[in-house]
Amino acid sequence: MIRRAALLFLLLFSSLAAAEQNLTLGIFAYRPKPLMAEAYRMLGIYLSGALPGQRVDIEFLDKAEMEAALAAGRLDFVFTNPSHYILLRHNSRLTGAIATLQSQEGGMVSHYLGGTILVRSDRNDIAQLADVAGKRIAIPGTKYLGAYQAQAFELLQAGIHLPGDARLSVLDNQDKVVAAVLAGEADVGFVRTGIIEAMMREGKLSAGELKLINRQDIKDFPFATSTELYPEWPLVALAHVPQETVKRVARALLSITPDMPVAQVAGIAGFTVASDYEPVQQLTRALRLPPYEQPEFAALDVWQRYRWPILGAFGSGALILLLSAGLVVSNGRLRQTEAALRELATTDGLTGVANRRQFLALAEAELARVQRFGHPVALLMLDLDHFKRINDTHGHAAGDAVLKDFAATVRDAQRQVDCVGRLGGEEFAVLLTGCDIGDARQFAERLRQRVADLKVSLDRQDIAVTVSIGVASMQRADPGVSRVLERADAALYRAKAAGRNRVEVEAWPILA
Ligand code: GH3
Ligand code: MG
Ligand code: MG
Repeated sequence: MIRRAALLFLLLFSSLAAAEQNLTLGIFAYRPKPLMAEAYRMLGIYLSGALPGQRVDIEFLDKAEMEAALAAGRLDFVFTNPSHYILLRHNSRLTGAIATLQSQEGGMVSHYLGGTILVRSDRNDIAQLADVAGKRIAIPGTKYLGAYQAQAFELLQAGIHLPGDARLSVLDNQDKVVAAVLAGEADVGFVRTGIIEAMMREGKLSAGELKLINRQDIKDFPFATSTELYPEWPLVALAHVPQETVKRVARALLSITPDMPVAQVAGIAGFTVASDYEPVQQLTRALRLPPYEQPEFAALDVWQRYRWPILGAFGSGALILLLSAGLVVSNGRLRQTEAALRELATTDGLTGVANRRQFLALAEAELARVQRFGHPVALLMLDLDHFKRINDTHGHAAGDAVLKDFAATVRDAQRQVDCVGRLGGEEFAVLLTGCDIGDARQFAERLRQRVADLKVSLDRQDIAVTVSIGVASMQRADPGVSRVLERADAALYRAKAAGRNRVEVEAWPILA
């Protein structure tokens, strides 16, 4: 009897232990689940083979199911589209992507995608982005990066806000979008890169029937595109997965070649080293897609979100010190080298102001002091107006010169204790310590005026530049800097909407 009980216990125990060994890969089901299961059944088997003693189970999940599974801690890996990844990364403990999908379109392999903006060749009235305003646009759906969001972002940069500034009609799929444009039922169509080439190959479309608006010239990309390119789907590990397992999975993914059954059944070429998903995040923010749709009220866990940048900043600081310490022993040029290395790691190469990581780390430290001591600190978010036009009219080099002069102007307007950083592109931020919201507004207004008075001279012509500024103040209750940035960003957005070259203050400044 005791023997049997022991045996039972052993069985139970071993099955529990075995269950612990299994890993679960959640794949976003963007097509019907049975179809997805057919396409990716080999991937589970393939990855299981790469992990001795462990099995990889695949679950196909829609967005709500994916979030529930992540919240319940049921997933070890996630494979989803880039904008969904940005959303999940915001809410969960994901590490960076470990690999990026390489897609296959007619023998062409690429791990980037973009969008095309199509019109019929005979539409002479639609030649550039500005002409798209007010037109009928056919799309397969607003959730597609390559078939809506990339195009919407491009149009936004040209001053056209979708969906409001045009008439959208949502059709079932990309083929129908092309058909609607050809039939004249829509003026403009959005489809992802590669579709046009595929339809031409399949004889569904002949050369010269359609033309591309805003055609981009991108080296080494096999398809015509109207937008910037974005990385393909990331495969992501959750933070709890052991490094050794992550490495094995990454190795297995990178070893997939297009001729392997695992690739062929799924219709993919394989995976490559993880891409940078920052451009997707920028697009997501600019288009106010989730998680940025309601900046004032979005519940964020900031430490979760900025833990890696902050730790990274401290980590690289430590590394620099270590490197420098090594150098002093060998050649005694410590000071120079240390300064040079530190500059590189903390400042923006073009403008010399703090880089994004450094700025955020300093702002977090400042917020911690606000929480302890309660003194007022304001944060300004600045974005140059119609900067794309400056690039388009005068060239990228002129754009760079404007950025430099602009950054210098902001820096000169600062007192010693303050900090200015470049958050990315032509977006900057300023920390004003000891400044309440009223002081900050005045400061921002003076700064706005200085910039408007600034004339950047290039080739004997002056380039005028204006800036829009959003102002927010740090609150003791702010769990992290990203909450403050969101309020400043919302104010900035209102400054843009109200006509640019303006200062706006956060909607509900809490008076300390
Ligand atoms: P808005 O008034 O709405 O801000 O219009 P905008 O044209 O400034 O729009 P947006 O801020 O979205 O566009 C920023 C542009 O800045 C897009 C990109 O081409 C350009 N840009 C980003 N980084 C750099 C850079 O380092 N150098 C140059 N020359 N241009 C840059
Ligand atoms: Mg911008
Ligand atoms: Mg701008």
